[in-house]
Amino acid sequence: MYDVIIVGKGPAGISASLYTARANLKTLVIGKGDSALKKAEKIENYYGFSQAIRGEDLLNEGEKQAARLGVQIIENEVINIEKNDFFEVLTPDNSYVSKSVLLATGQPLKKIRIENLEQFEGKGVSYCTTCDGFFYNNLKVGVLGYKDFVVHEAVELEAFTKDITIYTNGKQLELSEQFLETSKRFNVNTKEIYRIDGGDFLQRIFFKDGTSENIDGLFIAYESPSSVDFARKLGILVDENSIVVDRDQQTNIDGLFAAGDCTGGFKQISTAVGQGALAGRKIIEYVRSL
Ligand SMILES: Cc1cc2nc3c(=O)[nH]c(=O)nc-3n(C[C@H](O)[C@H](O)[C@H](O)COP(=O)(O)OP(=O)(O)OC[C@H]3O[C@@H](n4cnc5c(N)ncnc54)[C@H](O)[C@@H]3O)c2cc1C
Repeated sequence: MYDVIIVGKGPAGISASLYTARANLKTLVIGKGDSALKKAEKIENYYGFSQAIRGEDLLNEGEKQAARLGVQIIENEVINIEKNDFFEVLTPDNSYVSKSVLLATGQPLKKIRIENLEQFEGKGVSYCTTCDGFFYNNLKVGVLGYKDFVVHEAVELEAFTKDITIYTNGKQLELSEQFLETSKRFNVNTKEIYRIDGGDFLQRIFFKDGTSENIDGLFIAYESPSSVDFARKLGILVDENSIVVDRDQQTNIDGLFAAGDCTGGFKQISTAVGQGALAGRKIIEYVRSL
């Protein structure tokens, strides 16, 4: 059991881990290597560097600093977080239990563009299997995505219907070994989607090759889950695409914190590092109070 699991190894997540590890909290950071900072060639507005520094170098130094202080860092993708008595954090190949969680997943990037997708949100298009799966009992549903997350969501929907198709929207499935086997339980359609349509509710999905299929519901599980995807499932308050936190970086869920770009506002390294520190301090207090 970890005291804290931090999802994201950008400046916000690593900054928080420095505080929690130095307070002797058992700290695990799980993150993939695609922090926004990696794209920054030249940083000149972060304190303490007389010469411009590359984003990637800053990230590497941060990780080394955290590792030196005893933080366990795992390069992986988190595909689900559940809260029962404690938090259960799921990666494609493992599950970890923790007393608290910090979301430091950066700005959510949803690059999917399908005609009418927004129009049918709440009318057949859903971003949350946990919230809406029940409405599709024995109906024909699709899950849109091509990574482990899509298979995880398809499995969740099996409790409600057996008629499930994974739509990859022109991509090839990119699955880990564990999910590759599971994916064989589902229909897979790799055609590129052109638009969706219906009346009051979603009815049909159209492909760029001119073909189409009937469909009752379409769940979006594209790429990796973002902070907003986790928020929907856990019931965390969200304002547009940003997690709502208080002055101590706490969300409305006990033991669950958020910091950095995923909370909106001034998206800069200094802000992320500062919010990480605030979250770290409050997590220490929270874990000690249990
Ligand atoms: C091109 C560019 C240039 C920039 N230049 C500057 C600059 O000069 N100065 C400045 O102050 N700021 C700059 N920024 C902004 C700065 O990079 C961000 O504000 C900062 O990186 C935010 O830190 P963060 O920790 O919140 O998020 P990020 O750095 O984006 O880190 C998010 C982490 O979460 C991980 N993650 C996300 N989802 C999951 C998941 N499901 N499972 C596991 N891990 C996950 C990601 O892989 C990543 O490790 C720039 C940004 C860009 C894109």
